Amino acid sequence: MTTAYRRPLLAGNWKMNLNRLDAVELVSSLMPSLAEGGCDVLLLPPFVHLFPLSRLLAGTSIQLGAQNVYFEPAGAFTGEVSAPMLQETCGAVLVGHSERRTIFGETDEVVARKLRALLSSGMSAVLAVGESGEIRDSGMSASHVLMQTDAALGGLDQEQLSRCVIAYEPIWAIGTGKSATQAEVGEMVTALRQHLVGSIGADAEARLRILYGGSVTPANAAGLFAIPGVDGALVGGASLDADGFTAIYHALCASTAQADGGQ
Ligand code: PEP
Repeated sequence: MTTAYRRPLLAGNWKMNLNRLDAVELVSSLMPSLAEGGCDVLLLPPFVHLFPLSRLLAGTSIQLGAQNVYFEPAGAFTGEVSAPMLQETCGAVLVGHSERRTIFGETDEVVARKLRALLSSGMSAVLAVGESGEIRDSGMSASHVLMQTDAALGGLDQEQLSRCVIAYEPIWAIGTGKSATQAEVGEMVTALRQHLVGSIGADAEARLRILYGGSVTPANAAGLFAIPGVDGALVGGASLDADGFTAIYHALCASTAQADGGQ
């Protein structure tokens, strides 16, 4: 049996929120409370806040990432930002978020090109996958999510895979206040992990972190983190509130401590 320690990860997707002063204030209040818990933290602010926040966070364990990237390295692509540019201020990029897919029309192919571009620049990726409410109602959730995952991860080598994290985010749970149930998350994560053993190999699967995202709050976090195979969360709304995000962080660290104690 393959065993691998997957360090828990809490990622905060700020989406298009907060001006610079609010961003600095939020991060300043998070810094003391997110220290030393034994879990990774990745903050995903809007592009314009990356530089000031990278200076504020220098020397801390809190990591910064971007919410988007363009797949070309440079050139006549007005309004876009490339991986080599981002790589100067942050270490990771979120790709495949459902808002990028649905509002901005990003296809699986575009997501895969973005993923390859950022990995080629030495960065890490959080790949978001997830089904709509209609797909769930049709009973095709698992096949949809596995197809999105294959389209993005197919052909990556082991080293590249080691820099990827998957975030399972059912679209119907994002920003709705209606989280997926523990049973729904557990079923999907089990399906994903079984599939990944076949597609990328048991060793890479055992190292690959899978997060849940979709209306995670301090109230439901502990239950979600108790699901086998879930290594943390991608949090939207609750990541804008220092107390809420800190409470979710502590729930994650406590679930890890419990799991370790139970071994
Ligand atoms: C998200 O934006 O990825 C997300 C999960 O949002 P929320 O936590 O607000 O549902």
